[in-house]
Amino acid sequence: MRHLSIKVRNLEESQTLLLTQKARLLQEAGVDVVSLTAGEPDFPTPAHIKEAALRAIEADFTHYTANQGTAELIGAVVDKFSSDNDLHFSPGQILVSAGAKQSIFNALSAILNPGDEVVIPAPYWVSYPAIVRLADGIPVIASFPAASGFRPDIRLLRRSIGPKTRVLILNTPCNPTGVVLSRSEVEEIAAIVKETNLTVISDEIYEKMVFDGRKHVSIGSFKGIRDQVVTVNGVSKAYAMTGWRIGYMGGPEEIIRAAAKVQGQVTNNANSIAQKATVAALRGPQGPIDAMREEFQLRRDYILRRLSAWGGEGIRNPQGAMFFFLSVEHFFGMRARGNLIRNASDLAEHLIEHHHVALVPGDAFGAPGHIRLSFAASMADLEKGIDRLLRGLQEFQ
Ligand code: GLU
Repeated sequence: MRHLSIKVRNLEESQTLLLTQKARLLQEAGVDVVSLTAGEPDFPTPAHIKEAALRAIEADFTHYTANQGTAELIGAVVDKFSSDNDLHFSPGQILVSAGAKQSIFNALSAILNPGDEVVIPAPYWVSYPAIVRLADGIPVIASFPAASGFRPDIRLLRRSIGPKTRVLILNTPCNPTGVVLSRSEVEEIAAIVKETNLTVISDEIYEKMVFDGRKHVSIGSFKGIRDQVVTVNGVSKAYAMTGWRIGYMGGPEEIIRAAAKVQGQVTNNANSIAQKATVAALRGPQGPIDAMREEFQLRRDYILRRLSAWGGEGIRNPQGAMFFFLSVEHFFGMRARGNLIRNASDLAEHLIEHHHVALVPGDAFGAPGHIRLSFAASMADLEKGIDRLLRGLQEFQ
């Protein structure tokens, strides 16, 4: 066998990317698969953002920029954090990267030493434990109970923090559960952070996707812990710019400088053209965000109606992000078309194979009794996808 790193050999593949790619390959082979896998807005990137990129190309803005990002973009990020999140950074406290995923990797690589622990509330976004391991840390999973809607269990959180804990990863709005933390929940967590002197990496990539008039709250805005929080965000979800790969973070200068050092040795600056486009996104009209949020809310409401008709068991109404996280445990041990369903992966496999609808099994998110359905798909696809899902699940009954 070829010599490969043990760390990488033991690394699980990103299930969100794997399932999305599987659905894409089937579609390319002519199979009519509805993909409800990735959290990827299906809207086009707004025109004024694309025009800024075209102008950048025409002006030959096609070379290296400063590793941390252009001064123009860093200024736009400083202003965005200040006006949206009550976070007040100097330019030296910002690092622009190739997607929020790289921001998280850079931050963890900057902070962790081998054996350091990182507390990750579950259900969690697939890549957190893997990125922690890549950065030589040890993920410690704090599983919030499904029975209370996956809302933070403060006592459990406190118990998960030990002498080796360096970082807590927080994600609100949460992928995959759709939970949006309330101000009082964030406040309770902030108190623990202060008491234990941890660093928080707060992943706020779904910030703009909050429903029913809710407000997103940034933990970094709580007075006593401002210098303990690295806030990560990006333009992928808010502006339908997944392919442009721009994420950014703001935090304590020492961490940002160390993270920039990592980035400087690995990729250097994020794409110059995409940086120009991101300035247009952050400084330009914000109307497209509202339009997308409204559309996402309509889709969520539609799915909720359809799924309630199916029986309602284990269905929670997402307050934000773009996912339903459905309990499917009661199908385990059942059979359909000769397939025994032992777990959520079997169910996802069965649904894609026999019913041509692709979802991501909950194992990938640290909640094996669940399955994630993304509503970042057109209404037509959602109608077709839910029809297929319901038909598929009825076969078990
Ligand atoms: N974050 C999105 C998701 O969970 C995109 C895919 C990924 O990077 O995981 O579907």
